[in-house]
Amino acid sequence: MIWLGLLSAAVYFCLGRLLGLHPQLNGWVEQLLEDRDLTPPHLQHRRVRSYSQLPGDGSPVSAGRYICPTGDGFTWHRASVVDVVPRCKICGESLSRA
Ligand SMILES: [Zn+2]
Repeated sequence: MIWLGLLSAAVYFCLGRLLGLHPQLNGWVEQLLEDRDLTPPHLQHRRVRSYSQLPGDGSPVSAGRYICPTGDGFTWHRASVVDVVPRCKICGESLSRA
């Protein structure tokens, strides 16, 4: 049993030195050991290691729609919150949110 212990220590020492000399090999071995089935990294399916949904409502935000209150048919859509709502291009009136 002592023999086996010495052999294990020698192998462990040699592997440690080898992996220390070749950082890419060290990363490859780490990926291999992380896989439950020990599938070589280049054959492992790409997978998302972690995912957490962003906080808040994840639904798409619709653009704000603005119309001219005089009823001349002018409509404008706000694509970004930084966009300043313009005046009606037809009559110059301030637009109202629809
Ligand atoms: Zn108008």
